[in-house]
Amino acid sequence: MNTKKSMLIVISGFSGVGKGTVVDLVFDSLPNIQFSISCTTRAPRAGEEHGVNYFFISEEEFEKKVQAGEFVEYTTTFTNRYGTLKSEIDKPLSKGVDVLLELNVVGAKNIKKLYPDCVTIFITPPSIDALKARLIGRGSEDEDSINRRLEEIELESKEIKNYDYVVTNNVAKTCAEKIVAIIRSEHLRVSRQNLDNLFEEEN
Ligand code: 5GP
Repeated sequence: MNTKKSMLIVISGFSGVGKGTVVDLVFDSLPNIQFSISCTTRAPRAGEEHGVNYFFISEEEFEKKVQAGEFVEYTTTFTNRYGTLKSEIDKPLSKGVDVLLELNVVGAKNIKKLYPDCVTIFITPPSIDALKARLIGRGSEDEDSINRRLEEIELESKEIKNYDYVVTNNVAKTCAEKIVAIIRSEHLRVSRQNLDNLFEEEN
C-alpha cells in the first residue's frame, strides 16, 4: 500500500474572522483528520463543550501540566493560557491520521520549529477595516478589550509572511474548499509519499 504520511495542519486567523465555521466545513470534507483539542484556562463560551472545543481547566491544573511536560507548546495571552497537549498530536499521527490545530501566531511559530514539515495557513478577512469596525461596533466589549484586540490584529498581521498559505474568508464554504485543496495537494508531495509502494495505489 502506498501509505501517505499523516501531517499537521496549523490554522490561524484574526479574532472574529470566522475560523470556527471554516474549520467545521473542512472536517465535513475530509475523513482522515482529527482536531487537536487544546487546554485553556478561559471560561467556556455559550455552546462550547469540554473535550470538544477545549479542555477547560483551572490555572493550577494548567501549571501542573506545564511542569509535567505534557504540552508541546503553550502560550499566555493578556488574560488566559492555552496549550497543545503532546498526546493530541502524537496519537493520531502514529495512526496515520492528520491533525488540525487552531493556534495563535505564537503557537504556529512554535509548532513550525518543532515540526518543520507542518502546513501553516492564515485566514484573513476580505477587509481589515470592516473587521475592525465590526469589533468596535458589536458593543459587547469595553474599550480596553477592543484596543487589545486591535493591537493583536496589528501584531498578527506582521506574522502572516511566515505562513505557508494565506486564504481569504469571503464565503466560508469557498474558504474551506481552498483549505481542503491545500491539504490534498500537500499529501501529493513526493516527500509525503512512500515511494517504495508508489504503484500499488492510486494517488
Ligand atoms: P479563543 O479564546 O478565541 O478560543 O482563542 C484565542 C486564541 O488562542 C486563538 O487565536 C486561538 O487560535 C488560540 N489558541 C487556541 N488554542 C491554542 C493553543 O493550544 N496554543 C496556542 N498557541 N494558541 C491557541
